[in-house]
Amino acid sequence: MVDEKKSINRRAFLSKGIVLAGSLSLFSRVISGPVLAQTAHQAKLDLSSLQGKFQGQLIAPQDPQFNQIAFDGLWNELRPARIPQLIARVVDENDVSAVIKYARANKLKVSVRGGGHSWCAMSNRDGGILIDLANLNKVISIDANNCKAILQPILSNREVQAALKPYGLAYPTGHCPTVKVSGYLLSGGMSWNQGAWGPGVGSVEAVELVTPEGEIITASADQNQDYYWAARGAGPGMFAVVTRYHLKLYPLPKAIVASTYYYPYEDISAVCDWLGPLARTLPNNLELSAGVLAAPPELAEQCKSSNGKVFMVSAVLFADSQEEIQAALNPLDTCPIIGKCLSKSVAKPTNFESLFDASGALWPPGLRCKVDALFYRSSLTETFNVIKDHFLKVTSPEALIFISVFTGKDGLAPLPDAAFSMTAKLYGGPWTMWKEPSADEENKQWHQQCVKLLHPCISGHYISESEIVEHPDYIKASYKEANRKRLAELRTKYDPEGVFFNYSEGLG
Ligand SMILES: Cc1cc2nc3c(=O)[nH]c(=O)nc-3n(C[C@H](O)[C@H](O)[C@H](O)COP(=O)(O)OP(=O)(O)OC[C@H]3O[C@@H](n4cnc5c(N)ncnc54)[C@H](O)[C@@H]3O)c2cc1C
Repeated sequence: MVDEKKSINRRAFLSKGIVLAGSLSLFSRVISGPVLAQTAHQAKLDLSSLQGKFQGQLIAPQDPQFNQIAFDGLWNELRPARIPQLIARVVDENDVSAVIKYARANKLKVSVRGGGHSWCAMSNRDGGILIDLANLNKVISIDANNCKAILQPILSNREVQAALKPYGLAYPTGHCPTVKVSGYLLSGGMSWNQGAWGPGVGSVEAVELVTPEGEIITASADQNQDYYWAARGAGPGMFAVVTRYHLKLYPLPKAIVASTYYYPYEDISAVCDWLGPLARTLPNNLELSAGVLAAPPELAEQCKSSNGKVFMVSAVLFADSQEEIQAALNPLDTCPIIGKCLSKSVAKPTNFESLFDASGALWPPGLRCKVDALFYRSSLTETFNVIKDHFLKVTSPEALIFISVFTGKDGLAPLPDAAFSMTAKLYGGPWTMWKEPSADEENKQWHQQCVKLLHPCISGHYISESEIVEHPDYIKASYKEANRKRLAELRTKYDPEGVFFNYSEGLG
């Protein structure tokens, strides 16, 4: 695995070498100053205009740290060959501003690296300057009385909940422990307790950002509204760098309680026939999911005939009273085939730490991944029916399909005043994950076929959990038409010179 990673990086570097040599030689004057001089020398860029304005670190492809940041900083082990011309690891918004002004003046494009968790590595583009936000990792303030916080982008979901917990507060963060709020909050934010709290972006009250002009501004419902609108959903197509998020917080629920049921694979349709309609009657603070995954070891023998896979129904309730717990969770025991349930764990008290542990185990690091998370118009039964046979053919034990079943009458409600525009009663899809490079082709093909089978059932894609590099048409499918058009218009208006890579530039 490690060797393969190195060889990809080396290959990437060599294959881009000629292009880089051509473009870098445009710059000749080498400047003094410890970091700048060395980097300028290596990259043959004239960085003199940055001197005194940039405090961070500039890393050129020849620098020993370059591959580590450019490639090892990515979550997905399936690494792209795309390589930036220079990495600028900034220390604050002034650095971001200086780099953008420099890029603009020198007709270079910029891309942005938040936490590197984009499944298709959208931060890595061919050429340009990669602005790496890794150092912007502080909680700026928590105002417990007014339920507000200001965060820098490189804080993980786990870190955010841990910072808020002592104040008895919480935020609709994403599900996995290591994902940073940076790109998560720009994308929409499929969150914990989404039914009650809404998606992550729904509680972003303002953003501080650096524009394509290099200006540092605040955008909210009251000022710079266009940027505010775009920052709430543009995801990897954002044409500014967000350096701070102003968040509205929620009281930490008094009790978080979880139930899990494992059913035999062959009973998927029967369980879905019951669960889909039941979800409409359940409260919106119950987070309900259904999925196919490798059976836990104690059920492995019973699941041999289904390729080791089992059907799981999981429910997490964010509750404030004991009565709520019973009313929300008891109905899950009423499945007509509950007698066939292989194993269950009912109404177990839990907390965010344990929820992150559980999600982290399902989506572990170090794997090669293809992901398409989708919004559905079909019923739960129809959705699982189209892929039921196909799932039995997957060879990787780590591959799973997860569908969030939004509870309540209407499902995921539309967000006013935001680029994020998807609504649905179901959300999710195949997370095809595997270990060995030798299994790449097989898994990629299996994944592609899975998405093809699901396509008749869907109403759209999620911009930040879809394979938009290989399938640029999925970008269009991630927004309602009016929102997509407005995003494009705003980009032309605010970034007419195209300083920021758009959704599909520089992707090879
Ligand atoms: C294991 C795992 C679990 C996940 N779970 C969830 C989940 O529960 N819910 C959910 O909604 N999503 C989830 N995601 C998807 C995740 O939210 C997106 O991939 C998101 O982009 C990750 O943020 P990042 O900062 O790491 O992105 P990066 O990969 O660093 O950036 C991706 C792109 O986003 C843009 N970007 C990022 N930060 C900024 C910024 N500060 N300013 C301007 N542009 C920026 C850039 O265009 C960048 O190229 C998950 C991803 C993984 C790998």
